[in-house]
Amino acid sequence: MAEAFDVIIIGAGPGGYVCALRAAQLGMKVACVEKRATLGGTCLNVGCIPSKALLQSSEDFAAASEKFGEHGILIDGIRLDLARMQARKAEVVSANVRGVEFLFKKNKVTWLKGTARVTAPGKITVDGTEYEAKSIVIATGSESTTLPGVAVDERQIVTSTGGLELDSVPQHLVVIGGGYIGLELGSVWKRLGAEVTVVEFLDRLVPGMDGEIARAFERVLGKQGLTFRLSTKVTGARIGNDGVALTLEPAQGGEAETLHADIVLLAVGRRPYAEGLGLEELGVARDERGRVQTDGHYATSVPGIYAIGDVIAGPMLAHKAEEEGVAVAEILAGQAGHVNYGVIPGVVYTWPEVASIGRTEDELKAAGTAYRVGKFPFTANARARAMGDTDGFVKILADKTTDEVLGAHIIGPDAGTLIMELATAMEFGASAEDVSRVCHAHPTLNEAVKEAALAVEGRALHI
Ligand code: FAD
Ligand code: NAD
Repeated sequence: MAEAFDVIIIGAGPGGYVCALRAAQLGMKVACVEKRATLGGTCLNVGCIPSKALLQSSEDFAAASEKFGEHGILIDGIRLDLARMQARKAEVVSANVRGVEFLFKKNKVTWLKGTARVTAPGKITVDGTEYEAKSIVIATGSESTTLPGVAVDERQIVTSTGGLELDSVPQHLVVIGGGYIGLELGSVWKRLGAEVTVVEFLDRLVPGMDGEIARAFERVLGKQGLTFRLSTKVTGARIGNDGVALTLEPAQGGEAETLHADIVLLAVGRRPYAEGLGLEELGVARDERGRVQTDGHYATSVPGIYAIGDVIAGPMLAHKAEEEGVAVAEILAGQAGHVNYGVIPGVVYTWPEVASIGRTEDELKAAGTAYRVGKFPFTANARARAMGDTDGFVKILADKTTDEVLGAHIIGPDAGTLIMELATAMEFGASAEDVSRVCHAHPTLNEAVKEAALAVEGRALHI
């Protein structure tokens, strides 16, 4: 007889593994299927974690090469040991994926190793072996989007996976796509010595983020030496003896040109992944972008089958997947699991970082919402000056009538950490005045948040 569980989760990324842990905490008998040799999904193996390890290492390298001097620290002969840097990245990944394995054991979650296929509601096979469950949660994540005419070989034309594994610094890296991956990995290789050109289809970077922040971001990265070709599309890539020849065209049509690169990083987005699961045969509904359709309780169109994370709608972010994992486990346990989609932070981990939460100014304008803006630059923040990191500003958008914080956008040092003060405020329905009345420690970067909140009422103190 097939082994039976209360819930089987397919995919052990941040959505799936967190769902498994929460379901186990709630007393369910849980299995999680993962076909990769290690747990943790895209995020821990080839996404968030290795990219952040390289961002940290390359940031330290750039600081030692370019910034230490202004602090009076003089080091001669700084050299790059890329092999060691990559080995350290692998150690960081390994510690994290082993950590998830430990958590599975601690919480008595069974890891079913192999590839799952859903054969009927309540029934799956893993590499041919049958299992049963009262509920099935699909958490199979996403994969890199392809581009016609640009054939990825993960050597010279790479996705983020190959872009994290380069064993030498490219002379000229051309990045296709000015979003999260393009700007993070573009920054890594720029700091390590590559010439980096980012080709972006739209007339701006990081679409979806606040437009004013995006323009400031472009200026700051430009100062660091990244080159941007906005409103430009790549229509072909040919690998030759001396690298890759890319065909570029203006986004709205026009004369084509050729751009040479030794490595091309394709980063034009990710698409949901549900290959080989058997969803079509079961009649699980998908939307026009291939995402599994779910209702407010993560139920798909087939009873007993749920879905979370990158494979469903919403931002493709690890913390969004995790929240959904917790919510669906609680719903299965009869509790009121819930995710507040209005308050999901997005962070680009460049230096300076860019962080965003809630509504952008562009969205408020489009919706006709009356709002007030408070801004405060890091040039006027004592801690940022002490650090020597004064690029950027905090921007808070508040409802004109009620003063409720509707959105917050930060470009600056540690923006990803700073945004969480505003996330907490928004989660509690705070006003800009509430934020400004909190006593902030001095000297901290957070004082820029307080000042931006004061600026909503036109009463910032330090500018
Ligand atoms: P995934 O993490 O993709 O996990 C799905 C898992 O399911 C995979 O391990 C896959 O092997 C497994 N699977 C699929 N099909 C089957 C099957 N049939 N049987 C068994 N197993 C199966 N997000 C952030 O929030 N912060 C970041 O800093 C960040 N950085 C990123 C950097 C890069 C380079 C990339 C590529 C992504 C980054 N992301 C980041 C996005 C983040 O990785 C994803 O949003 C997150 O991993 C989605 O989690 P998930 O659980 O939905 O899916
Ligand atoms: P993205 O959606 O962030 O950016 C893709 C960019 O490519 C966009 O600016 C888009 O306009 C552009 N583009 C699309 N087609 C193009 C074309 N033909 N030519 C030129 N440009 C084109 O996608 P991504 O950077 O590939 O990352 C995928 C997802 O992974 C992100 O959306 C995000 O959800 C997640 N991620 C998150 C983080 C983080 O949280 N720090 C880091 C990396 C990835």
